Formats: sequence, C-alpha cells, structure tokens
Amino acid sequence: MAAVRSFWGWGYQKDELKISEIKALATLLGDFVKPETPIKTPPKKDSLNLQEPKIKLPTSLLKLADASNQQRARHCYGRSFKDVVRGLNNEFIDPPDFVLYPKTVKDVIDILDYSSHKDIAVICYGGGSSVVGGVEFDHEMKQNYAGWISMDMTCMDKLNYLDKDSRSASFQAGILGPSLEEKLKPNNFTLRHFPQSFEFSSLGGWIATRAGGHFAMGPTHIDDFVESLEVVTPVGTTVTRRLPASGAASDENRLWLGSEGMLGIVTSAWIRVQPRTRFVAKADVAFDSFKEGISCLKDIAQSGLYPSNCRLLDPLEALINGVYAGNKAILLVGFESYDHDVSSSFKRAKEICNSHGGVVVSESDIDNEISRKSDSKQTAGGSWKNSFIKAPYFRDALVRLGLVVETFETAVTWDNFNELYFNISNEINRYLSEKSNGTQWVTCRITHAYPNGLAPYFSVIASCKNNSQTAVWNDIKQIANETIIKFNGTITHHHAVGKEHRDGYKKEKSELYLDYLKNTKKYFDPKSILNPGNVIRLL
Ligand SMILES: Cc1cc2nc3c(=O)[nH]c(=O)nc-3n(C[C@H](O)[C@H](O)[C@H](O)COP(=O)(O)OP(=O)(O)OC[C@H]3O[C@@H](n4cnc5c(N)ncnc54)[C@H](O)[C@@H]3O)c2cc1C
Repeated sequence: MAAVRSFWGWGYQKDELKISEIKALATLLGDFVKPETPIKTPPKKDSLNLQEPKIKLPTSLLKLADASNQQRARHCYGRSFKDVVRGLNNEFIDPPDFVLYPKTVKDVIDILDYSSHKDIAVICYGGGSSVVGGVEFDHEMKQNYAGWISMDMTCMDKLNYLDKDSRSASFQAGILGPSLEEKLKPNNFTLRHFPQSFEFSSLGGWIATRAGGHFAMGPTHIDDFVESLEVVTPVGTTVTRRLPASGAASDENRLWLGSEGMLGIVTSAWIRVQPRTRFVAKADVAFDSFKEGISCLKDIAQSGLYPSNCRLLDPLEALINGVYAGNKAILLVGFESYDHDVSSSFKRAKEICNSHGGVVVSESDIDNEISRKSDSKQTAGGSWKNSFIKAPYFRDALVRLGLVVETFETAVTWDNFNELYFNISNEINRYLSEKSNGTQWVTCRITHAYPNGLAPYFSVIASCKNNSQTAVWNDIKQIANETIIKFNGTITHHHAVGKEHRDGYKKEKSELYLDYLKNTKKYFDPKSILNPGNVIRLL
C-alpha cells in the first residue's frame, strides 16, 4: 500500500515520531520541556470539520477532483511552523473547495479557463513544502473570489525525453525529487539539486521558487539547471527555446523562474543533468570560534576552488546536529567530480583552513573512486546530512511539545555580514529572553558562500507560555524580517517570498520595479486568478 502523506505535518504519516521517541526527545531537551508537559495529539481524519465547497465544477473537471476532507486539509497550508501548529490544532481556515490533479497540459488549460470564467482562484501546488504561505489562500482577498482550487501537479510526473548528447532531460513539472532522480539513474545521470525538502518538493515548485540545493558553491540553485520551460498562463502557453546560452535581449526563463505561481503554471522543463559523482573528498574542520570559521570560509569562497560543499556550523548548531560536541565551529568542506580526482583542490582547501587555525577532525579517503552509497567512512558531514533530512519530522515533534521552532535565512555581502549577524542574534535573543525564561537556542549556519557574500541560516528553538506558540512565532518572524532588511540582507536567499515575506520584498525593490511586476501580472493573468496576493497584492 502506498504511504500516506500527513495532512497536518511533514512527510509520511508512518514516519512521524512515535510517542516514546517524543518523550525521549523531551528528556534530551532538559529545561525546555517541563516534565508535566502534555504531548499534543494530531487530529484524526474523521474529526476534520471543514466548511463545504462553495463552488460547483463541470463534469469534465470533476473527474480530476478530490474533495475529501483529508486532501482539502492537506492542501490548505504549506509546511512552515505556523502551518504545522494550525494543522495540529485542527484549524483549517478557508480550505480549498476542491483539489484538482491535472494529468496533461490540456487539463491545466481547462482548469484555468473555467476558473477565469467563474472568478475562482487557482493555487498551484507542487510538493506543498512552502514555508512562506505560498500554497495558502490569502484570506484577506476572499471577497474577490467565488472560491479556490488547489491544483496539485503531482500526476504530471513523467520523464518526457532524455538528450544524452546535450546532457539535458525534459520532465513534467509535478515530479517530486526522489522520482526525478530515480528516472535519471538508469542512465547514470543526476540533476544534483538537493534541497532539504527534496523528498516532498517538485521540479515545478523549485523553478517557481528558485530553490537552493544543499551544495554550498558552484551550480546548486535550480536557476543554474534550467534550459527551457513550458508555461501555461490564463492568456496562452509559451515554450522557451532549448539553448545552451543566449545573448538575445532579456531572458524569458528568468521571467518564470521565481514567479511563484502568480504569473503562470510551469508544466514541463528541460533541465541540465550530469553524470553521477565518482570522486569525493571531504573533511570536517574545527575552528575555535565562528568568527575564525567565517574568515576561512571567505578565503575559500574567493580562492576559485569552488568546493561542492562548504558549510559552516556555529558550535551550538554542530552540537545539536550531532556533528561535534567540543564547543567548536565546524566547517564541512568537500569536493566532488564525476570526471577527475579532486585531491589537489582538497589539499589546497585544507591549507587555507590551517592558515586560519582550523584543525581537521575527520576526513574521508581521497584517492579512491567513491560512490555515494559505498561511502562507508562516515564524516561528521555524513551525520549532519542524516539529521538534515530527518529534521522536519523532529521539528513537528517539537511543535507537539509546545515549543517554538523557526528557521529563517538571508544572503548578504561580506562587508555587511558582521553587522547583520550580530543584530539578528541580539534582537532575537533579547525578545526570547522575555518570552521563554532563558530556555532558548538561536543558532546559525552558513549554507552557501559566494566570492562576494554568504547566506546565513538561523534556527530558533524556544519554550513559550501556554498557547502562545503562534504569537511568539509571528513576533520572531517580524523581528527577523525587519532586521534583515535594515542590515542590507535579502528577505530570502532560497525560501521564496510567498505571503510571509511580501512586506520585506516590497522594501527590497524599487517602486518602479514593483509597478513593472504588477503590470506583468495583469498582462498574463488579467482576472488575477493565479495565487492572488502571492509575492505582491494587486487588489
Ligand atoms: C523542511 C523544509 C526544508 C526546506 N528546505 C529547502 C531548501 O533546502 N532549499 C529551498 O530552496 N527551499 C527549501 N524549503 C522550501 C520549499 O521546499 C521550496 O520553496 C520548494 O522549492 C517548494 O517546492 P514545492 O514543489 O513543494 O512547491 P509548493 O510548496 O507546492 O509551492 C511553492 C510555490 O510555488 C508555486 N508552484 C508550485 N509548483 C508550481 C508550478 N508547477 N508552476 C508554477 N508555480 C508553482 C506555488 O503556487 C507556490 O507559490 C524547505 C521547506 C521545508 C518545509
């Protein structure tokens, strides 16, 4: 039997932490969780009490529909902390009237035609892993629509073509990460784009949100891999030409990348693929302080070495993720290639680390060809990867224990980093000290590094007073958004804008550019049915 997706939390129901595991986690967390704290129970599917659909569908669309409460609840929200809290509390406000599963481009066109005609909003749903309200209906726009449809793309999951010569593959856009990689594997190819949400996010979602993979340098953003796109809009369909590069005026792919479901629906994409990795060399390097790690990271980012991984964890982040328990900042540095031995670049990167006082605490063999699976010598990077993938299930368990858990991220140029980092850490810690009686962790890791800047990623775990989980989360979000913009960061490096980051996005862009974007939206979506209020509000 196929595994069932959770309608309130992350992933598959079968993989949720068991009560005994949550209790063990609570014990590990010590002061964070009082012994008498009850573990919240998720709602049962029979207890879902959703308002009845307000709209009717023609028979031609009904055959694509699922109006079960379970599916409507699952598609009501994405998977941010706030979404999980609301799901856990059985608060499914304004759920979609229907969930529709198109199988062909014609189905997508029919859904948009009908919805335009009947003033129904359509929110495209890939894997539903948005953490910024991207797949949720903007409740303040309710009066403008007869109802809303969640258009789930996951039945559009085929490999259309593989062009081995050009190393490109065309997929339907609803395909989820694991299935995409499975389909490339028999020909020894990979897309090598691994966001943490890989298992439950889709190619179309990655493109629409300009997702970032976990490799820290070199090609890692989905932008780097898109060759050509097919996009359906309420006024027509467009297909961009397959080209390795082009200097022909503005780039149409760039229009759709990051359009977050508000301009058109990405129905398929040609992506650049590459042979699977054969050579790997990696090490975990300890630094006495995060500051020293940062200055080393900068030198590596500016060295022209471009390691595939170069991720810096502050001491608490290293401890929590089971990477290193010795109160040191840890740099996970690694090189990969499908073509050649990487030992000389690896050697040079370690020299740079040494020059900053870094000490290698573990490293894997560098002389052999190492396939991912047979990489038996586990570095801390390996432990970190495991905890990285399982983290969302743990996050949901912490929510059930009544804690506040948030992650937010940005990118900033090197010259502005210190000010941004200290102000964010101070502001969030100061706020939490008032709310959480000192039981709080605010940690930072650097997920991506560039010659001209870096992407810090903050994680927060805090206790809070009864029933104030969402209020505290809202405050943290607001403080983080305001501080990021004030100190010259971007409102998001890879989590997208959606509805949660809309105000920050507005502050980051000029009036002139926002007008251009609004007019572009009016052109492709004249009745504003596509994900209303996402990124920008028109009405
Ligand atoms: C635990 C966790 C970890 C995460 N880790 C990462 C990470 O490492 N890197 C990262 O970049 N992000 C990460 N995210 C955020 C999220 O996974 C990404 O934004 C991802 O790209 C969304 O893909 P999706 O298919 O789930 O899209 P959805 O959540 O379904 O949709 C996101 C947005 O894209 C639009 N959309 C979806 N499909 C299409 C389409 N075919 N055409 C047009 N618009 C579409 C939707 O309308 C919505 O606005 C994480 C989220 C979670 C919950």
